[in-house]
Amino acid sequence: MKDLYTHIQSALDSLAAEGNLRSLSHALPEGRYLLAQGQRMLNLSSNDYLGLAADLELRARFLAELTTDDFMPSSSSSRLLTGNHPAFDELEVALARLYDAEAALVFNSGYDANTGILPAIVDTGDLILADKLVHASLIDGMRLSRAQWFRFKHNNLKHLEHLLQKLAPSYRHIVIVTESIFSMDGDEAPLNGLVELKRLYPNVLLYVDEAHAFGLRGRRGLGCCEEQGCIGDVDFLVGTLGKAAASAGAFVVCRRVARDYLVNRVRPFIFTTALPPIIARWSRYVLNLLPEMGERRQRLAELSRRLRRVLREQRMKCPSGSHIIPLIVGDSAEAVRRAEEMQRRGYYVRAVRPPTVPEGTARLRFSLRADLADEEMEGLINILAGHEMPGK
Ligand SMILES: *Cc1c(COP(=O)(O)O)cnc(C)c1O
Repeated sequence: MKDLYTHIQSALDSLAAEGNLRSLSHALPEGRYLLAQGQRMLNLSSNDYLGLAADLELRARFLAELTTDDFMPSSSSSRLLTGNHPAFDELEVALARLYDAEAALVFNSGYDANTGILPAIVDTGDLILADKLVHASLIDGMRLSRAQWFRFKHNNLKHLEHLLQKLAPSYRHIVIVTESIFSMDGDEAPLNGLVELKRLYPNVLLYVDEAHAFGLRGRRGLGCCEEQGCIGDVDFLVGTLGKAAASAGAFVVCRRVARDYLVNRVRPFIFTTALPPIIARWSRYVLNLLPEMGERRQRLAELSRRLRRVLREQRMKCPSGSHIIPLIVGDSAEAVRRAEEMQRRGYYVRAVRPPTVPEGTARLRFSLRADLADEEMEGLINILAGHEMPGK
């Protein structure tokens, strides 16, 4: 038998040969810029979509309110033991109120929420039907569950309807799982269509991950479910706090009875040290401001519309309907080469490669941000619209 280290070395060698080897690079954030590889670049690869993580004034105002007592960098225990600081309850009450829902529960990350909730709410005899392109954390959640699971064609209501007709009578509960804005294509799920399908069956529930829409969509920034008027029809609405909300952690908005159950059943909630209370407090601080950030949301929407239009005018393949804008290249090595070219020109854009995206769809992924200056946007568009597309 081959020695383990020989085995992993050859696995790394094949990843490198395919152009899919990942490694950690040094990156120092400086507002909306990033210092990396000895260069200062505009950061178009983070999830700081509203520019709140880069907003020093906002941070200073928050800090000015704090005392040494408030600054608690550790919970020192799980929330079920001694870690349930009032900051968590306050955050959850504020979330439930915003969504006009019965309850909310905070998790340490979106990864924890998705890998924890799904295995908790389903069991043998249940079925999960997930969109083909859902995030890895949702896939892992399905894998960890004891339910059967199946993926329907991306955003394809007909396919889902067909599966439901065929399978609904054979399972106790069925959970439909989708993202609202998909993290790699930046397109949107047909939420109202999903709600309509769900309503046809008494045993079907709907789970929506708003990781890339929370803070950004809807009048008060609650997400696509707010924008499409279906918050009340979603059984488990997950949002993350580490993206537009510039903090860390995640939450689910659900019925009170469901929350009580999750507290008893979600392993990544029970068997982990709670987030630092100072993080919960910062999340709450940002949450209070989010409803009033319509201007930043509009700015982001305008920038996004513009960039998508430019790509389409160049006949580049772009499925996006949001601020996440992929430029699909295909080949991994080619995507990396083009990303490096963008970086040389001062725009920190990354190549996204398999297995994060399907084989043959390696891409540059632009994450736009509301704090982009007009000149910076012009510069980007000039590169992409000019004859000077990197690599051409
Ligand atoms: C980022 C992301 C997550 C994970 O959230 P973290 O808080 O970063 O762990 C979950 N789902 C989707 C769709 C995401 O994009």
